[in-house]
Amino acid sequence: MSRVFHRNSRTAPPTVSRGEGAYLYDTSGKAYLDGSGGAAVSCLGHGDPHVTAAIKAQLDKVAFAHTGFLSSEPAEALADRLVAVAPKGLERVYFVSGGSEAMEAALKLARQYFIEAGQPQRSRVIARRQSYHGNTLGALATGGNAWRRAPFAPLLMEVSHVSPCYAYRGMQEGETAQGYAARLVAELEAEIQQHGAETIMAFVAEPVVGATLGAVPPVEGYYRAVREVCDRHGILLILDEVMCGMGRTGTLFACEQDGIAPDICAIAKGLGAGYQPIGAMMCTALIHDTIAEGSGFFQHGHTYLGHPTACAAAGAVLDRLLDDGVAARVAPLGKALRERLIDRFGQHPHVGDIRGRGLFQGIELVEDRETKAPFDPGRKLHARVKAAAFEAGLICYPMGGTVDGQRGDHVLLAPPFILTEDQMDELVDKLGQAVETALG
Ligand code: PLP
Repeated sequence: MSRVFHRNSRTAPPTVSRGEGAYLYDTSGKAYLDGSGGAAVSCLGHGDPHVTAAIKAQLDKVAFAHTGFLSSEPAEALADRLVAVAPKGLERVYFVSGGSEAMEAALKLARQYFIEAGQPQRSRVIARRQSYHGNTLGALATGGNAWRRAPFAPLLMEVSHVSPCYAYRGMQEGETAQGYAARLVAELEAEIQQHGAETIMAFVAEPVVGATLGAVPPVEGYYRAVREVCDRHGILLILDEVMCGMGRTGTLFACEQDGIAPDICAIAKGLGAGYQPIGAMMCTALIHDTIAEGSGFFQHGHTYLGHPTACAAAGAVLDRLLDDGVAARVAPLGKALRERLIDRFGQHPHVGDIRGRGLFQGIELVEDRETKAPFDPGRKLHARVKAAAFEAGLICYPMGGTVDGQRGDHVLLAPPFILTEDQMDELVDKLGQAVETALG
C-alpha cells in the first residue's frame, strides 16, 4: 500500500522510472508520449543534459542559501536575463517555487503598492470566469473556475468575475472580433463603475486560457482595449503567463502577440521546465521603486525564494530556449500540429472547436456541432479520454466544465518543443483513438 497522499485517494498511479526526450517510462517499462508536458511544464522534454549538468554544477557550489541573508549568482543572472527578454517595463523579478506562489506574490504586491502609493482604498480584484490562477487561497479566489472554487467558497476573498474572451461560445452571430472585444471591455468598464474605479486594485487574466478552457486565445484587439481601460482608471494589469508563457505560444511571453505589456506578470511551469520547481513574479520599476522608496520591504516571502539550484536550472532552460533555438521551433511546430488536428478532427461530428497558439492547442468536444451542445457532464467524457489516452501510452490534459464550470469537455495539448514530426503523428493518432474509445 502506498503511503503517499495521492491526488486520487482511491488509486495510486503507476510509478515513473525515467524520462527521455518526449517520453516518460513507468517501472513496468511502458512508454508514454508526453503530449501535454504534464500540465504544460516539460517544454524541453525529459533528460535534457544541459539543464541537468547546470543543476549538478550548482549543487557542487552551493545548493541553497536563504535570501534573508544572501543573494546568489544564479538568481542574479536569471533576473538580468529575464528582464532583458521580457515585455517592456517589467524590470524586477521575484523568484518563487511555482505558479500559485507567483500569483499570490502578484496579488500581495499589487495591494502593498497601492498602500504605499497613498491609495489604500484600492483592494478589489477583477478577474474572469473560466480561468485558473492556482490553488492557494488568494489565487483560487481570483480564478473563475467554478468547480475548483466551490468547496472552499467560504474561505475565499471577494473577487469580481467578468466574462472570458472565448470566441467559440461568447461571440454572437454576426458579431465581429472588434465588436466582441468592445462588448467584453464594456462589461469590464461596467464592473469597474459599479464598485468605483478608486476601489479597484487589479485586473487579472491569462493571455491564453489554459486548463480551464483548453488553450483559448483572445480575439484581436481585446488586450489592447483592456490595457487602455486599466491605464485610464489607474488599475494594475496582472497577466498570468504561468501556463502560456516561456515560449509555449510561439513568443517567449504570450502577451507579446497581443501588443501589450502588463504591470505584473506571473511565470512558472516552462521556466524550470520541470527540472526544478520555480516560478517568478515580474513587475515594473514603478511598483518596485514605490516600495523601495516607501517602507523598503515587500511584506511577503517564503523560505525557498530565489532558490539557487532552481535558478540555475531555469538559467539553463533559457540557454536551451533562446541560445539553442528551441523556442524558435514552437511557431512552425505549432502550425504543423494544428494542421494535423484539423486533418484528424476538423470534420469530426463531436469536435466543435480547434484552437490555440503555438504548441498550446485545444479541442473542444461537443454532443452536437450545430448547436454546440456539450455532452452530459455525468458521462465524464474528459476523464474517459484521459484514461483511454493514458492506456494507449499518451499523456494529454483533458478537463471538464469548459462551458460554465459544470458542462463541457476539452483536451489541452502542450507537447515539448523538441517534438519530432513522427512523434506529432503519434500524438494525434493516439488522441484520435482515445476520443473514439471514450465516445464509444
Ligand atoms: N496559473 C495558471 C494559468 C496555471 O495554469 C497554473 C497551474 O496549472 C497556476 C497558475 C498554478 O501553478 P502551480 O500549479 O505551479 O502552483
